[in-house]
Amino acid sequence: MEELVEHLVIGTGFSGLAVAHALAQDGASDLVILDRAPDLGGVWLNNRYPGCSCDVPSYLYALEGMPPYRWSRRFPKREEILDYLRTCFRETGLDRHLRLNVAVQAITWLEAESRWSVKCDSGRQFKARFVYAATGQMPRTTIPNIDGLESFEGDRFHSSDWPEELDLSGKRVGVVGTGASGVQMVSGIAESAEHLTVFQRNAPYLFPRNDREFYGWERRLLNAGPFWRRLYRSFLYWKHEANGIAYFKFQSLLHLVRYNTMRQVKRFLPEGEVQTGATPSYAPGCKRVLVNDDYYPTFKKPHAELITDDIERIEGRDVVCRDGTRHPLDILVMATGFDGTRPMPGIDVVGKDGLSLHKHWDEHGVHAFYGTQVSGFPNLFLLIGPNVGLAHNSVLYMMESQVAFIRKIVRWAIETGKAAEIREEAQASFNTRLDRLLSSTPWQIGGCVSWFHDRKMRNVGMWPTYTFRFRSELEATSPKSQMDG
Ligand SMILES: Cc1cc2nc3c(=O)[nH]c(=O)nc-3n(C[C@H](O)[C@H](O)[C@H](O)COP(=O)(O)OP(=O)(O)OC[C@H]3O[C@@H](n4cnc5c(N)ncnc54)[C@H](O)[C@@H]3O)c2cc1C
Repeated sequence: MEELVEHLVIGTGFSGLAVAHALAQDGASDLVILDRAPDLGGVWLNNRYPGCSCDVPSYLYALEGMPPYRWSRRFPKREEILDYLRTCFRETGLDRHLRLNVAVQAITWLEAESRWSVKCDSGRQFKARFVYAATGQMPRTTIPNIDGLESFEGDRFHSSDWPEELDLSGKRVGVVGTGASGVQMVSGIAESAEHLTVFQRNAPYLFPRNDREFYGWERRLLNAGPFWRRLYRSFLYWKHEANGIAYFKFQSLLHLVRYNTMRQVKRFLPEGEVQTGATPSYAPGCKRVLVNDDYYPTFKKPHAELITDDIERIEGRDVVCRDGTRHPLDILVMATGFDGTRPMPGIDVVGKDGLSLHKHWDEHGVHAFYGTQVSGFPNLFLLIGPNVGLAHNSVLYMMESQVAFIRKIVRWAIETGKAAEIREEAQASFNTRLDRLLSSTPWQIGGCVSWFHDRKMRNVGMWPTYTFRFRSELEATSPKSQMDG
């Protein structure tokens, strides 16, 4: 039995919430929000490893127009972010539209009806006029190819599958990977595990976090009314936006990051091989700079060690490195990151004239128009799609810019009765300019490979300039001139 709906949102993270809220504000009541997960929250539901938190300050990692929230600290921890999302869904009444434990498997454009047919794993089917894919920026986990990994005899899991109530006491824990998740979790693991071994794959760059709870007077001020909250958010926004100068204008400024990292390496790691191994071999800014204060100090503890040699294989419970050293472990955490190169994986998307989105992207590369629309796929909107990621500011600002754009297009489509599809030439000229801007960024010339590079080293993840440009360009885009109908 097919359910007919006007708006179908896939995903209950920040993006699903923001787009659903905008639609509801425009009077959309025929709205369904699906998620394959058993609860709302997106990445903040799944990622529950110790120390999981956001690298963007709390008042900036929040949505405009949502009920005010009393953040307790400068950088929010995962639990508080989840509480924020739950509060927003509840207080905006959007929780009434939720359908959880429903995974979308395929969406097919029905030209004659100007609607999407949506098939889900539970056998449920929908027909929706507009589909909003808020399915995440990093939807797939990556696991490296390590000889013997499958036969590891202890407990092994990816960082985003951290088992609830896992007791680490008396356990020898290994963490593979020192990206954003790996670096966040080590100090928490070291507090309860008997022994911690961190296997570095790439030396990270770190910048001070200076996290703390808000002082009493700060809380009073921020809770006194919208003026102070807006002022503080605006200050945070411009402070972060100014970091863009180091990425897009004067890259030599990024050497401050190198200076901070090396100071910590020299202060907290044993001299010799380990310090050498922890010295990044690529330019600062090429990979995500991690905002962290407790990673390197953890290695001052006698039961925590950093291994910079490569893993050669796994035998039984031992991780064996290239130099032959064996590290016996009870638990192996694969903090090996995510693949951000393919939006909507696992959903078979078939657009106009039977065009398969994934086949099309396989053949021509992952392209979109401002990470939001793809030519050939009318009335389908991507949130935090290709080339919307950032290194210097909050990705939620980008996503909210997309939502404002989507809102404009959807109003236009409803008013005109047309299907909203981006013109192929508009998408192509956008991508030509994008690639030109990307070519001089630290991500492309800094000597590293990241989660946002496809097999041809094309950067399909990052936005190569200031965020206010993304917003103002979308504001200036008129649906009438850019859409086919
Ligand atoms: C550990 C971690 C830390 C991060 N830290 C930061 C940070 O410090 N700063 C920052 O800016 N960003 C950070 N991010 C990036 C983060 O992805 C974004 O900030 C933001 O939360 C993305 O929200 P979203 O709603 O777009 O996607 P998500 O939160 O990923 O939500 C997507 C939802 O879609 C659902 N879904 C996917 N496919 C289907 C399907 N087929 N059917 C039904 N449901 C589906 C998923 O279950 C999920 O609930 C981090 C990400 C991770 C994983």
